[in-house]
Amino acid sequence: MLLSLISMVSMNIFYYIIYKGKYKYFEYYRVSQTPWPWEIDKNEFTKILKKTLILVSFNQLVLGPFIAYASLMLSGVNLKLSYEDFPSSWTILVHFGFFIVVEDFGFYWSHRFLHHPFMYKRFHKQHHEYVVSIGLAGAYSHPVEFILSGLMPTSLGPVLLGKQCHIITLYLWVIMRNLESVDGHSGYELPWSPFRLLPFSAGAEYHGYHHSHNIGNYGSLLTLWDSLCSTNTSFLSYIKKQFKDN
Ligand SMILES: [Zn+2]
Ligand SMILES: [Zn+2]
Repeated sequence: MLLSLISMVSMNIFYYIIYKGKYKYFEYYRVSQTPWPWEIDKNEFTKILKKTLILVSFNQLVLGPFIAYASLMLSGVNLKLSYEDFPSSWTILVHFGFFIVVEDFGFYWSHRFLHHPFMYKRFHKQHHEYVVSIGLAGAYSHPVEFILSGLMPTSLGPVLLGKQCHIITLYLWVIMRNLESVDGHSGYELPWSPFRLLPFSAGAEYHGYHHSHNIGNYGSLLTLWDSLCSTNTSFLSYIKKQFKDN
């Protein structure tokens, strides 16, 4: 958990440097020309930043480890722990592929559920306070949302694999999931991002649209379920229009 938090903080520092530096190279890949939240209203941004840091610390340092430990104890899932069982790169890759498909399914439906008016105003509206999303926004979620569409979909794959899964694969997966969340909220569609290598990859433009327009695009890593359920048609029309206008 600590390692995952460190990797998330490091990636946010990387984006902080890019946001502040406004480097020509990176600006070319910005998904929206809308000013950053601190450029629109500095005081308002300071308030949301404080709330974000408190909530992220609580979710990542208290709630996450507690739920992870409790659910491992209660479910009786025995992950591989020994050095002898250390997985090969190929096994890690195959397990990652499985986790991605399972996570995307869980995230899509839990996220869509969080957009039900009853759930939205109680638990998900907070995450959408970032109309222009930044890397840090990925972890800014109500504890109920953190459990429903963070912990549960992320841990479902490893739980289903049970004793086939090594604890190191689980750690790497949690780190990757956190990094992808920062990448998807960063506001930059960097072509060399390793997450773009995934087939049906979603990305920063895709999820940025979800924040700016709040219509569809419920998927996390992939666009698969959005395409199957036609919940990304608004985004696709928007992209088509952007393409024509340019
Ligand atoms: Zn949402
Ligand atoms: Zn988001």
